[in-house]
Amino acid sequence: MSTVSSSASSPTSPTLPLATRADSLVGSVIDSSTSLLASYTHDIVKFGMGAPAPDMLPSSEFARIAKSVFSPESFTYGETQGEPVLIDALLKYLEDTSQIPEEHFGQRERLVITSGGMQGLDLGFKLFVSPGDLVFCESPTYTNGSATAMSYEAEVVEVPVDHEGMQVDALEGLVAQAGRSPAVIYTIPTFQNPAGVTMSLERRKELLEFAHRHNSVILEDNPYGTLRFSGESIPTLSQLSPNDPLIFGVRTFSKFVAPGLRIGWIDVDPEIRGLAINAKQTMDTCTSVPTQHMVAQWLSEGGANDHVDHLRDAYLERKKTMATGLDQLFGDEVRSTDPDGGFFLWVTFEDDSINTENLLPAALDEGVAYIPGPAFSPAGAFTNALRLCFASNAPDRIDEGLQRLRSAVDKHRTP
Ligand code: PMP
Repeated sequence: MSTVSSSASSPTSPTLPLATRADSLVGSVIDSSTSLLASYTHDIVKFGMGAPAPDMLPSSEFARIAKSVFSPESFTYGETQGEPVLIDALLKYLEDTSQIPEEHFGQRERLVITSGGMQGLDLGFKLFVSPGDLVFCESPTYTNGSATAMSYEAEVVEVPVDHEGMQVDALEGLVAQAGRSPAVIYTIPTFQNPAGVTMSLERRKELLEFAHRHNSVILEDNPYGTLRFSGESIPTLSQLSPNDPLIFGVRTFSKFVAPGLRIGWIDVDPEIRGLAINAKQTMDTCTSVPTQHMVAQWLSEGGANDHVDHLRDAYLERKKTMATGLDQLFGDEVRSTDPDGGFFLWVTFEDDSINTENLLPAALDEGVAYIPGPAFSPAGAFTNALRLCFASNAPDRIDEGLQRLRSAVDKHRTP
């Protein structure tokens, strides 16, 4: 047990008998940005949260579908692994769109519906991380993922990322340094969050070899894979290595349908699935049943097809608008990644004295929000970088937001 003093608002309250793992719970700067912005009353262009814009959500279809699927049966408990209608519709969608290898076709027993991608991450780390285990993650990374590993008392080691994704050739050196192999390698290989980069085919193969050499689980977090708007598609790790028990796939409807639904899934070896179901039963019994029925109906009607095409077109335009705007307003002052899909540009100031955490209040005053670089590193690196989400705003708002960012940087430099 570890002890911390409870709430500062009550100085006389006793010391709480917290579990040791409570010390490993780090909050999410990314998630907290939603509450932070709610406290501002002036107009803010939101480049922070990785969420589709309200105009990109299929809300009217879902409003119509809700009326037809809401019955008394859809308000009771469901099966932990997910509603059969959703599993069937999802599997068909994944097969029709070649998102899974042919070897997995028809394998309903690989899928568990989860309460968002976050629950998939929690299940993966819960099953494979014991206290003190080593977990490799990308640097920068989606720190809600690394934080989940830390909540199971993992020791997280950051692996540098370049334009081809995780630098897989650094892994053996890190193993030698640590004197042990990682229990889990956490990667977002496609349109990485926050860097937007995609791991090359060669590195994917090397990563698989590494994982098999060390018997490490690869947690393949792939929320953005459907949203490719340019370039050649690259197979996922599970497509490269079908029926591989070392690959734990985490997916979500949040980025190509709507994050507020809180529906995702895991795609795992059937042997692991049973354990994942047990683990999920200790979390939430089952994912929201009415929402699962809505998504199932939307998928069965073929709703995803046109919708995803529309998203790809819109996001390509938004990315181009943001990249062009950055170039015009910041020129050589910054360098930015150039993603072929997903939601994010990762922007680094050449002047490393610019601290994006310190800049944020000025940016919010000017009316633009972003997530500062250190929020994407467990060690708090990338102080002169920031993540911009291009998906959440129409092109004219992107232009407006970048103008505001420009003036925030100017004011911050010359107070
Ligand atoms: N993984 C990554 C890389 C993400 O970007 C996100 C969402 N920001 C998630 C997982 C979590 O997805 P969900 O919102 O469905 O829980």
